[in-house]
Amino acid sequence: EDVRELLLSRIKDVADYPKPGVMFKDITPLLADAKAFAALTDALVALAGRYGATKIVGLEARGFILAAPVAVQAGIGFVPVRKAGKLPGATLAQSYELEYGTAEIEVHAEDLSAGDRVMVIDDVLATGGTAEASLSLIRRAGAEVAGVAVLMELSFLPGRLRLAGALGGAPLDAL
Ligand code: 5GP
Repeated sequence: EDVRELLLSRIKDVADYPKPGVMFKDITPLLADAKAFAALTDALVALAGRYGATKIVGLEARGFILAAPVAVQAGIGFVPVRKAGKLPGATLAQSYELEYGTAEIEVHAEDLSAGDRVMVIDDVLATGGTAEASLSLIRRAGAEVAGVAVLMELSFLPGRLRLAGALGGAPLDAL
């Protein structure tokens, strides 16, 4: 419908970024448009309600930008999942496969607890590696995965398939 059209119209395709052959989806025009950013936030807040979320996890770095206003508007806490080495406290860490090599993400263990129903927010689901690793962090913290919401799913990649097992029946929504 029209929210989807509005969001799509504010995402820019950038060819050969960050490397040749890649078509990068740039969300900065959407963020710079107050109406589009608000419409995205409202849609994510509605999903948070549907999921029954009690915590919002944002994935570094663009996920932080999308998730923070959702947490405030929904009246629930925000928890950052960061690239390894950025969080000062006791963390849980999870590594995952990239196209070349591996990456590692972390969360502060004390920010999530048993009984939490966690909504994960990111801008783009590509291969699904980042989201999959975040779901294992959430479970290892003792919390429950309520759902994953992304602005965009690159449906020519098998991200949704890769995530299916880790979701364990929880919803994956792409706006
Ligand atoms: P994945 O782990 O699913 O392969 O990659 C998803 C992560 O990479 C997300 O955190 C996302 O921010 C970033 N990413 C991958 N491709 C794009 C893209 O085309 N545009 C943007 N904005 N982010 C991307």
